[in-house]
Amino acid sequence: MQLKIGIPRGMFYYDYFLLWKEFFNNLGAEVIISPRTNKAILNRGIHACVDEACLPVKIFHGHVDYLKGKVDYIFIPKIISLYKREYCCPKHLGLPDMVRYSLDGLPEIIDTEVNLIKSNGSLKKSVLKTGRYFTNNSRKILKAFDKAYNQFEEYRKLMRQGIIPINSVGFLDTFHFNITEKKEFYKRKILILGHSYNVYDEYTNMNLVRKLNMRNIKVITTEMIDDEIARHYASKLPKRMFWTHGQRIVGGAFHLIDTKSIDGIVYVSAFGCGLDSVLMDLVERKARENHVPYTLLTIDEHTGEAGMNTRIEAFIDMLEWRDKNETNFSTHG
Ligand code: SF4
Repeated sequence: MQLKIGIPRGMFYYDYFLLWKEFFNNLGAEVIISPRTNKAILNRGIHACVDEACLPVKIFHGHVDYLKGKVDYIFIPKIISLYKREYCCPKHLGLPDMVRYSLDGLPEIIDTEVNLIKSNGSLKKSVLKTGRYFTNNSRKILKAFDKAYNQFEEYRKLMRQGIIPINSVGFLDTFHFNITEKKEFYKRKILILGHSYNVYDEYTNMNLVRKLNMRNIKVITTEMIDDEIARHYASKLPKRMFWTHGQRIVGGAFHLIDTKSIDGIVYVSAFGCGLDSVLMDLVERKARENHVPYTLLTIDEHTGEAGMNTRIEAFIDMLEWRDKNETNFSTHG
């Protein structure tokens, strides 16, 4: 019998889904993903999760709840560290435990620990531990992972070329960048900044990418920037950035500002996110110094779409007005 493994469509899904899916498929498992975030999923999450959690964590609970009863296992890795001497948000590493204690009747959770704080050596251990749910053959597990990783690397290369190949290859249906897009179609480029689950979950950000595309604006995300480049720019900070997502967000934004590659920045942040409160301040300062228009969209379960639309429209109008009338003046007053 083919085992079914559920992957909740939230949090690190937006970074690593392809790697996980290919790995489990290579081991002969059937991968079931929860649907795109919607009102019902959000309500399930709000009902199950503690009030103090941020919106992405509540949404994640809703996705896990959806998978209940439909799969043999649910994959929720405990991601502590992805790079040497760096950490992830405490909520990332507490995710499997939070879910376990908030939801009843779950199938077994595969909560493999990923902790590369000291070296990459422990990755092999994590891979083997995960693979053993499906086979005891270590060689087969490592081969399945290598194959999945190579595909994942190909996918990341495409992203760095400015193409998010989701629709064209059908791995994910989350993104809405068109692989055949014509450069001249777009009048401006705007960086959508934030944690991947805020940037790419359409329900969370209320179709921000589509809304900008419809106004002839090309959307840039930090996944389109080479890791080494983002890290190089982040290393210019007076203090070392020890959050891995922070390296990407701050380093990516600094790179795009310094190379004058963008016409504005929209930061999407979850209400109450401790990391974002630091990261967005760093980015906003840099944007101000370089006269790059910047706006912040804060989201929680009470955010209304009308208010969001007004903010976006006002930002775009300001960019247009600035083009016509202001030329070099700061937009920050
Ligand atoms: S980084 Fe912020 S948005 Fe993400 S899980 Fe942590 S608190 Fe929530």
